Amino acid sequence: MTEETRIIESTWDLTAYQFKIEADALNLFVKGLKDKKILGRKCRVCGTVYVPGPTYCRKCLVDIDQVVEVSQEGRLDAFTVSLADVRGKPVENPFISCTVKLDGTDSFLMGVLEGWTDWRSVKEGMRVKVVFKDVTQGALADLSHFQLI
Ligand SMILES: [Zn+2]
Repeated sequence: MTEETRIIESTWDLTAYQFKIEADALNLFVKGLKDKKILGRKCRVCGTVYVPGPTYCRKCLVDIDQVVEVSQEGRLDAFTVSLADVRGKPVENPFISCTVKLDGTDSFLMGVLEGWTDWRSVKEGMRVKVVFKDVTQGALADLSHFQLI
């Protein structure tokens, strides 16, 4: 006997939830993306480099005002391979979501990984680079994906 997936059409009111986003960090990040740069902030006390860069250090609890441009290359920190859609139906073209630690930074960015042919060959620690969209608009989507080097 096979189990059937039951689909219920409905809505989910997300307005009941509140998410706190530090606008300055996001604004600086997307400003950099428009110019095809990755901008973050560096703490003058402990040297931690955040991308996106918050306005205060999470470790020292001091204000951070030093904006830094960081490398567009880094290493693959973690990833997950999507072999099926949200309903469990296998997808024709699997894709990889990943976190990347850019060189010289102490935080991680999330994105999609491209440049692989067999997902089984993708390994943590592989070198990657940022790929921007050809035309940037100052939006998160300007960072198209990460590419294996
Ligand atoms: Zn600090």
